Amino acid sequence: MTTHREPLDSVLNTVGRTPLVRVHAAPDEVPVYAKLESFNPGASVKDRIGLYMIERMLERGDLVPGGTVIEPTAGNTGIGFAIAAGQLDVNAVFVVPERFSVEKQQLMRALGAEVINTPTEDGMGGAIERAHQLAEETEDAVVPQQFSNPLNVEAHYETTGPEIYDALDGEVGAIVAGCGTAGTLMGMAKYAREQDADTYVVAVEPEGSLYSETVGADVDEEDYKIEGIGTHDPTTNELFDPALVDEIVQVSDRAAHDELKRLAREEGNLVASSSGAASVAARRVAEKIRDDEVDAPADSVVTIFPDSSERYLSKGIYRSFEEWSS
Ligand code: PMP
Repeated sequence: MTTHREPLDSVLNTVGRTPLVRVHAAPDEVPVYAKLESFNPGASVKDRIGLYMIERMLERGDLVPGGTVIEPTAGNTGIGFAIAAGQLDVNAVFVVPERFSVEKQQLMRALGAEVINTPTEDGMGGAIERAHQLAEETEDAVVPQQFSNPLNVEAHYETTGPEIYDALDGEVGAIVAGCGTAGTLMGMAKYAREQDADTYVVAVEPEGSLYSETVGADVDEEDYKIEGIGTHDPTTNELFDPALVDEIVQVSDRAAHDELKRLAREEGNLVASSSGAASVAARRVAEKIRDDEVDAPADSVVTIFPDSSERYLSKGIYRSFEEWSS
């Protein structure tokens, strides 16, 4: 990590190089490591794409200084973009479906961004549509489009992937990550498969989400409570490439919630529901490698814990499952 060695000029210098920490409930023979993305300045994995995408768009001239980024986002992406935008002379506007956590929206506003809410029932599709309308009405505005922009994947290919391989001296058997836009998993998977084409790659989604349909699985669509991952319409998740994935694992709200509480109590890890889901899936994959049900090039599994539970205290994340999920 960079943060302790020397004084830094900007908070942007603290994006990335997050710690990789063992998940102790996993089998000893096949350790699971989680990258703790809450160590980023905006406390989530999305600071990586905020910085990377704005820098590349400015370099390419797609975005000009004094211009505006307008992005449909569930929240963490807005915070990531708002931090980078604020430091790089760019305005930021975010379109957020109402159901997402109020903490995230407060943080975006505190960072100087404008937040516009769309009705929950219109889903991310409604937010995407509204963002494009606004961009047409605003001068020098760009919609970075995290759901379809290859720079989202590239950010993780250039940063998250190499950091993992450096930390483990290349000894990576499987990569497991939750998929919202799927940028995190796709970037890491692309990097991993270049290091070893047999790296086992697992996508994680909530039960009720429809990523599994992309590989022909017959799954039921339902609402889910896990925040930040999953899709009700895989055609909007343009970055997801089933060819880079060996398995899609579904995790129930209850299993993710039990695990996020266990991670706090037993492992001192204050992470949220998408991390709980990732941890459940990563532990299952480690067990399969141990039991020789899955071939992997090394006896280790790496996953991502995208953000912290503190952002969801108002939603009762540490209350009973019934209270949290109601
Ligand atoms: N977890 C949380 C809490 C998130 O906000 C996101 C981003 N939507 C993810 C996981 C998934 O990341 P990605 O969009 O790269 O798939």
